[in-house]
Amino acid sequence: MTEKIPTPTIEDYLGIIYTLQRDGEQVIGARLSELLEVSAPTVTITLRRMQRDGWIALTPSKRIELTPAGVESAKAVIRRHMLTEWMLAKILKLPWSKVHEEAHKIEHSISDTVELGLIDKLKDPSQCPHGNPMPGLEAMSEKWQPLAERAVDEVVTIKRIHEFLEDDPELMAFLEANNVLPGEKARILEILPFNSTMTLEINSKSVTLGYEIAKSIYVEK
Ligand SMILES: [Zn+2]
Ligand SMILES: [Zn+2]
Repeated sequence: MTEKIPTPTIEDYLGIIYTLQRDGEQVIGARLSELLEVSAPTVTITLRRMQRDGWIALTPSKRIELTPAGVESAKAVIRRHMLTEWMLAKILKLPWSKVHEEAHKIEHSISDTVELGLIDKLKDPSQCPHGNPMPGLEAMSEKWQPLAERAVDEVVTIKRIHEFLEDDPELMAFLEANNVLPGEKARILEILPFNSTMTLEINSKSVTLGYEIAKSIYVEK
């Protein structure tokens, strides 16, 4: 076990590795480099440091895995990120599409005291404002299905916009402007496989999404 406190950079890596592991995606340097928008050599150097400091371990097949200390720290930073999103949405009334970006800047300086205060004030939320489950409560999202797997004429309730979509401010603003938000009901009007698009009706307004986005939006029938 490590006694060290992770730096903000290490916390970003821990959060992403935790999310990839949760989704059953293989954790490889190239994917980290894409998600963190840093070069492959930088990822390699940081991973080496993380291994030395006991946050990650390499499996015999050279796969990256979080150590128990890594899992604990990843859960803490994700929880603080999600609580900060709620604080910005509910207390500061920032737009839904902006809270992820702003929370990302603050999450690394949230102390245990502030975290406990936020949990109390926000009534211990089980998801972030985008519908992603708090670490440890992932089971709640297992029954939701990707929008891309649903069929024409179905009416679904939007439950969750995946964490990795939250990183795209333009997409988030588009989703917010078109009411593609957790809790909204959507009717699937049209699916055009040759275009890789789906058109939905939400609040009597239609919106077209690409399959790639629809794969990362989860719904309930
Ligand atoms: Zn977020
Ligand atoms: Zn969120």
